[in-house]
Amino acid sequence: MEEHILLVEDEEKLARMVELELNYEGYQVEKAFDGRTGLELALSGRFDLVLLDIMLPALSGMEVLRRLRRESQIPVIMLTARDTVVDKVSGLDMGADDYVTKPFATEELLARIRAALRKRPDRALSDARLSAGPLVMDVDRHQVAVNGQSVALTRKEFDLLHCLLEHKEKVLSRETLLEQVWGFDFVGETNTVDVYIRFLRSKLDERFHIKLIHTIRGVGYVIREELS
Ligand code: CA
Repeated sequence: MEEHILLVEDEEKLARMVELELNYEGYQVEKAFDGRTGLELALSGRFDLVLLDIMLPALSGMEVLRRLRRESQIPVIMLTARDTVVDKVSGLDMGADDYVTKPFATEELLARIRAALRKRPDRALSDARLSAGPLVMDVDRHQVAVNGQSVALTRKEFDLLHCLLEHKEKVLSRETLLEQVWGFDFVGETNTVDVYIRFLRSKLDERFHIKLIHTIRGVGYVIREELS
């Protein structure tokens, strides 16, 4: 499978050159020329690795890295123009996987990309993400975040949210949710679902002032992306 690399670099000529070299090696490359766009793309879940320049317009590379690490463990290699110890140390401290000092030889960059891709957790893990509007669920790591802020959920709350997200925009009855989340032989009342929906609403909708979980009277519940 082709690996997708995000290159965040404001020097367009250098970015174009790196892109060509990486394409030649069989990588798919997308470029961003400022930090803000770079961060948005890096959070999209479409990439396997990020090459991140430090000196960037709109948002510095360090700031992009800091925000990215709140919700993503995607491998990041910093591109630093300055061969200063401070940049390297703070970049690595903030969760960069590696760094390359400009100007760099293509072979060195490729070697570091291969190393960073080898180190990353199982591909299947990094792909298991569900989302609805500002909410992102990392299924295998059992993590949920809204606007990059993590939310602590109990096991059942997580499972219920997971079920709703898997069927986003589809109304699920209480019975279906009971079956899916609590299992066929659950002995209890269907209002168990209502109780857990209330827990989720207070931890998600109310806390973050969003409207994701909707009640469909007489039918059940649905997660819908907020239209704003
Ligand atoms: Ca730069």
